[in-house]
Amino acid sequence: MQRALPACAPELRFLGRGWGEGVCHHAPARMTVCAVPLYRGRFAPSPTGPLHLGSLVAALASYLDAKSQQGLWLLRIEDSDPPREVPEASNWILQALDKLGLHWDETVLRQSTRQEAYLAALHDLAQQGLIYACRCSRLALADHSIYPGTCRDLQLPWQEGAALRCRVTAQCWRFQDRLQGEQAQNLARDCGDFVVRRKDGPFSYQLAVVVDDAHQGITDIVRGIDLLDSTPRQLYLQHCLRLPPPRYAHVPVLMDTTSGQKLSKQNLATPLDLARPAATLWHALWLLRQEPPPSLREDSVAQVLAWAVNNWRPAQLRGLTQLALAAPPL
Ligand SMILES: [Zn+2]
Repeated sequence: MQRALPACAPELRFLGRGWGEGVCHHAPARMTVCAVPLYRGRFAPSPTGPLHLGSLVAALASYLDAKSQQGLWLLRIEDSDPPREVPEASNWILQALDKLGLHWDETVLRQSTRQEAYLAALHDLAQQGLIYACRCSRLALADHSIYPGTCRDLQLPWQEGAALRCRVTAQCWRFQDRLQGEQAQNLARDCGDFVVRRKDGPFSYQLAVVVDDAHQGITDIVRGIDLLDSTPRQLYLQHCLRLPPPRYAHVPVLMDTTSGQKLSKQNLATPLDLARPAATLWHALWLLRQEPPPSLREDSVAQVLAWAVNNWRPAQLRGLTQLALAAPPL
């Protein structure tokens, strides 16, 4: 009788990009080389409200980019900022993705379970002399778009009510964005020492995202262009923490052309029409300039996604920073 091979993917140690090598703990010693997927992408929503068309556009772009390269698509719930969260929102998001056929690989990672990992990263940075406490009030910083370094050399105690900042240098951080081209930022000049732990407790997005992307072995980040500006801070933290930098592709954000605002939970974007998931996916594909055939709208979710994976053309978004929200053509 032929025995099925045990599923070994979760046992593989991620060793970087490419169909690389990994250690398979199920296999005999001389069979230790297995293939691991070269592409590990992710979608990382914050549970601050239901999924809306703007977040679907970003989710779909990252899903299609991963699946068109035979990659895995992971899901992370960025629930490390309780005051901003809406109870039930993470369930709404998971249910909406499921209904839209955007099934994720592996288990969902929740940032609320990752405090120890963030703390370890913080201690690592602190041992390198990169962290200091800052007691500046919001008012004191109101006139500064870049932190002026007030507390940099004061050696204030790390205690309640103090934020923790990471020192930056005048080094220029460059990266090649797959859609937006060459990017460069001098952190000292353009950003300043930035907060890694807020005075009210939560770790900053910058620290958490870098630690979690490395933990999940993410090779490719496809996300909204509103996060382009924070990428050099993440590259800097990856460098300081000796973590591999992923590739980046920043997709244009959906704009409400009547208000001139980015479509977000804050400006109460209309929730998705989940009663007609295939048509909703079609609309998102059309907004992403993938030119889906009109007949596809009447097909199943699986058929729409199969077409979209086979026909994914990220180059349609190259150099674009905004997509105009418009109703789908009749
Ligand atoms: Zn300060």
